[in-house]
Amino acid sequence: MPECSILSIGRELMLGFTVDTNAAWLATEISGLGYQMRNIRLIDDNGDDIVNAIKELTLKSDLLIITGGLGPTPDDLTREAIAEAADDELAYHPELFEKIEARFVQIGITISESNKKQAYLPESGRGLNNTCGTAPGVFCLINDCRVYAMPGVPREMKEMFRLSIVPELLEEGKGQVRAMKRLQLCGMGESRVGEVIKEINAECPKCEIGTTVHTGVITVRTMAYADSLAEAENIVNPATDKLRERFEDNVYGEEGVGLSEVIVKLLGDRGQKLSLAESCTGGLIAADIVSVAGASEVLIEGVVSYANQAKQNRLGVNEKTLINYGAVSQETVIEMARGSREFSKSDYAIAISGIAGPGGGSEEKPVGTTWIALDCEDGTYTLKKNLFYNREGNRRLGVNYSLDLLRRVINNQKLPEGVQLCQGVMQ
Ligand code: ATP
Repeated sequence: MPECSILSIGRELMLGFTVDTNAAWLATEISGLGYQMRNIRLIDDNGDDIVNAIKELTLKSDLLIITGGLGPTPDDLTREAIAEAADDELAYHPELFEKIEARFVQIGITISESNKKQAYLPESGRGLNNTCGTAPGVFCLINDCRVYAMPGVPREMKEMFRLSIVPELLEEGKGQVRAMKRLQLCGMGESRVGEVIKEINAECPKCEIGTTVHTGVITVRTMAYADSLAEAENIVNPATDKLRERFEDNVYGEEGVGLSEVIVKLLGDRGQKLSLAESCTGGLIAADIVSVAGASEVLIEGVVSYANQAKQNRLGVNEKTLINYGAVSQETVIEMARGSREFSKSDYAIAISGIAGPGGGSEEKPVGTTWIALDCEDGTYTLKKNLFYNREGNRRLGVNYSLDLLRRVINNQKLPEGVQLCQGVMQ
């Protein structure tokens, strides 16, 4: 496979003021076009460093994509560095300057003398059209490596990549095509997921299977490269089918779908309603649901019942329950969920109460102890989790485990270990 390197240029990137999202986006797009990613490098606005990096990376790669440093200011040095690395002079292109000038007229800004700099290109290079900014991109061949330089502004970079670079790379036809499928899982341990992947990889060796884990959600990515998309899909699809079968009910969706999207769709399709009683998550479950279009069809209300008083006043939790068992207990979340469902007349009510940390834990109830309840016509399902992230992470985990419990109950699927169904009074 042909190899690609990415070079991100900018002092603000080096200092960490700006996160290099350009490289992450480009790596996904370029690997999709059949290039093996060889190097991703981040460097300062320093002329010598940029020249050296270009020389080194063009010797190692078939394709080098550069972002940043094409502006009109003295610290924008990419154009000069490309020319030096190519052992070339910079040449002025009046027709390019006319285009830049026209762009300034269009946006109603007076062009300054310093913008002339952007109409210079390495003699052996050519410009790339910028449809949503003023800085033209640059193409040049150095050490037999195709070098494309684009502006750092993400919106301009993406447009230029799609419109000017992708067609050339496809025409070049060097790369193979990638097929990729992603499965989203919740409720399965990472190590067990890893074991299944190993077995399936042994059966389907042409696939590359990898995972990313984010607060209780595991994404399993299956990729393959081939000369045509159909061929690549013929490798990826059977492997994904095998994985889906082995992961069983732990698969909640595909292709990056969120748990809240799945829930809104499930409830919407059934014409059912949800209500929430949140303590430790402080409205995060509601925010997740509301972020999905169509939420108004399914969510009745969410109560952030943080203090004991609110649990009593807003949800009808018995004072004795709070005194005898505490706010983070099975008994309390059952009453919270039942209160929520009764008051809002919903089909499902989720309640959650936990110790998110860093303080507030005890020997009996350490930080991370979290109780979830789901009340519905079957009765009240409860689940205790011992979460192990920081405060923010524990709250996100709480959201995901709550929504996962709900989608399993709605779908009549296998419930997570430890779930109890309580019908009637607990005490
Ligand atoms: P140009 O080539 O257009 O001059 P530049 O990198 O010199 O690009 P800056 O003025 O430094 O441009 O940055 C413009 C905007 O683009 C800023 O908001 C900056 O944070 C953002 N940006 C630059 N490089 C990146 C990157 N690699 N990832 C994400 N954002 C970036």
